[in-house]
Amino acid sequence: MRNPRTSGDDTRARIASARGFIFDMDGTIALGDRTSGGHEALPGAIELIARIKRDNIPVRIFTNGTAKPPAAYAASLRGAGFDVEDEEMMTPSSSTAAWLVARGINRVRVLGTAGTSAPLLAKGIEVIGPSEQADGVQAVYLGWHREFTFRDLEAAVQDVLAGAVAVTASNVPFFATADGRAMGTSYAMNAVVRAYLGRLPRILGKPSRDAFFCALASMGLKRRDASDVVVVGDDPALEMRMANAVGAISVGVATGLSGLAALKGLPERDRPMLALSGVGELLEMVG
Ligand SMILES: [Mg+2]
Repeated sequence: MRNPRTSGDDTRARIASARGFIFDMDGTIALGDRTSGGHEALPGAIELIARIKRDNIPVRIFTNGTAKPPAAYAASLRGAGFDVEDEEMMTPSSSTAAWLVARGINRVRVLGTAGTSAPLLAKGIEVIGPSEQADGVQAVYLGWHREFTFRDLEAAVQDVLAGAVAVTASNVPFFATADGRAMGTSYAMNAVVRAYLGRLPRILGKPSRDAFFCALASMGLKRRDASDVVVVGDDPALEMRMANAVGAISVGVATGLSGLAALKGLPERDRPMLALSGVGELLEMVG
């Protein structure tokens, strides 16, 4: 679904009357802080989120990392000065947990950290360890798991051959950190699964529709409200692709992976409807 109305003025009008906002975290509202290990707010981001919430418009912060549970990222953002509740923070494990529950899947092998598993456990899903001996595994979930071994991958592939569905948090090779480019671990594990089984695990974090609609539902909005939701991010292949695919309002910011000129020159599916130098520019468009 493409939204034909993409003029700048029209996009601004849609932002002014938006019914929900989904923000990316790193490179969009905050940057990793090298010294504290926490986050530092980007200019205008704290005020922007406070203003949107003051108008009783729901906000979700959706990061594509699964190293930590959502509550830990929320605490880090609060430490940087943001008014963000644990319930407003989402990771691919949030949308994965919802997807699994919707399908009655309650026994899952997780190749990931405690942070990867936390949202699944919170929904009552039984989590099997990476190379733990287990029968009847219904799904294999690949997340942040730097310590993966051949035994882990073998267990996962055998589960899928025995009927389990393969899902993954993300499939991006690199992500931005304060120290530069870092390598995603699910990308490597996904590649192994594809090599053995012929297809990639299903992506349930950004840019999947599942991730978007999970955030939408958690804001109390319906699928038909998608075109009234603003998605703000710095990674065109994640946030812009997700927003454009569902007809939401895509807003790209140049404080992370891409500069303004690069954002404006992208192919249509990854191009933001509105490209800004930073989230602070949204302040005058909301409320
Ligand atoms: Mg980002």
